[in-house]
Amino acid sequence: MMRRFRQYIDGEFVDAARSFESIDPATGDAWSLMPEADAADVDRAVTAAHRALHDLSWSGLTPTARGRLLYRLGDLLEEQAQALAELETRDTGKVIRETSAQVAYIAEYYRYFGGLADKIEGAHLAVDKPDMEVYLRREPIGVVAAVVPWNSQLFLAAVKIGPALAAGCTVVVKASEDGPAPLLEFAQLVDQAGFPPGVVNIITGFGDPCGQRLTSHPLVSRIAFTGGPETARHVVRNSAENLSHVTLELGGKSPVLVFDDADLDNACNAIIAGIFAASGQSCVAGSRLLVQNSIHDTLVSMLSERVGKIKIGDPSDPATEMGPLATARQHRKAVEVIQSSVKAGAVLTAGGKVPPGHERGFYLEPTILQCPNNDIPCSREELFAPVLSVMRFDTEADGIAFANDTCFALAAGIFTNDLRRAHRLIRSVKAGVVWVNTYRAISPVVPFGGFGWSGLGREGGRESVMEYTRPKAVWINSSTCPFPDPFIMR
Ligand code: NDP
Repeated sequence: MMRRFRQYIDGEFVDAARSFESIDPATGDAWSLMPEADAADVDRAVTAAHRALHDLSWSGLTPTARGRLLYRLGDLLEEQAQALAELETRDTGKVIRETSAQVAYIAEYYRYFGGLADKIEGAHLAVDKPDMEVYLRREPIGVVAAVVPWNSQLFLAAVKIGPALAAGCTVVVKASEDGPAPLLEFAQLVDQAGFPPGVVNIITGFGDPCGQRLTSHPLVSRIAFTGGPETARHVVRNSAENLSHVTLELGGKSPVLVFDDADLDNACNAIIAGIFAASGQSCVAGSRLLVQNSIHDTLVSMLSERVGKIKIGDPSDPATEMGPLATARQHRKAVEVIQSSVKAGAVLTAGGKVPPGHERGFYLEPTILQCPNNDIPCSREELFAPVLSVMRFDTEADGIAFANDTCFALAAGIFTNDLRRAHRLIRSVKAGVVWVNTYRAISPVVPFGGFGWSGLGREGGRESVMEYTRPKAVWINSSTCPFPDPFIMR
């Protein structure tokens, strides 16, 4: 008997009319049944969220009380972190050593946003009209459609659900059809935390019709989307129907620049973290390594040696460092791009194949390709796979030019011990997040996001809560004089 998951709509756990099988990426076998939300399920979830938005059981709560609910959710998540991490590992193939740490840390996000709920402040405005008192209220923006991709669904949902609820909005979350188990299970915690019915709804189904219907629904006021640029364009077109607000967290082709004065042991480990952790399935993957000429050969041989020692295997084994890719589709794409890159002139320095003994499931060796220029497929396309493109550069200006030669602008890594150079690079490099002598560090306190093909808006940090509010300007006339000439604007 396969485990059957249900969706969470209006405070109830319900089946969908149809279901689909979820695949264990470590074996390629189906292991559970997921509800396949159709347009009617989406309508039910959005209608519930819309009703809950105005229901006094939610809208009548003080911001402090909303914050307390978020705190409670964080605590419950912390208690259940290991069980949720195991589900994420089973359903996505992400290794347990990463999911255990990541899921436990998500509790801090809910607590952070809970703490912000009663710090959403309006303003008193000093207008140039002496009889007028003018102030700005911040009100919840409305029903939020949160759409997440298959990697890190719990985390990517938290950076949407947390600020939305802190601001007093209600939410419909669409989990990806790939690996939705942990997010559907998380609904149990939302229920236990005591949110009124309809405040949080969690469904899953295919991009079309489920995501399509959700992001074009007339009762949705705000879309928070994480995914690829192609889908993002659909989402923006859908948002045009209702002129809803949109934030987009999209992909990257992030450069990591290593200069000849850098600490190479530190750089080597950070590069591994950037591209081989999570089998490269991370939006901030440092997939383009740019190395200054004089240290190029040394660093590449250090990396090749370390890559050869990466422990590939069962993602549920705490000793495993790299598991499978999440889907057969991802695996196929990565292999195709490796082959087309070699044809285009890249030199395979490590990996490139299915690791021996791992023919079942969607495993791929950690791969290093040395590229003669930036026009090789692996240095242009976001792969979402453990594939590192390496290029050499001579001067600082060449390094910056290579780094910025991409449509994406999400993250960048800079490795140098020269403080003046670090500051020059920080200013010049095209990215929403820059890490200096480190990589892949995150915190709820820090706004995250990119620009260009990497997206619009930020998640995390104080400002992200404001993005779930809308300002209302209030004018109060304190004068006892009669209304002046009605044909002149005051
Ligand atoms: P997709 O863009 O394919 O899917 C993202 C989500 O959108 C999924 O839930 C998908 O559903 C849904 N979707 C698909 N079609 C539509 C539609 N027409 N309307 C509305 N929703 C739709 O991305 P992937 O799943 O391939 O995820 C990988 C991408 O996510 C990469 O580009 C990666 O860089 C990016 N990402 C960005 C992050 C960031 O914070 N910047 C973090 C993590 C990932 P379904 O799965 O059912 O098709």
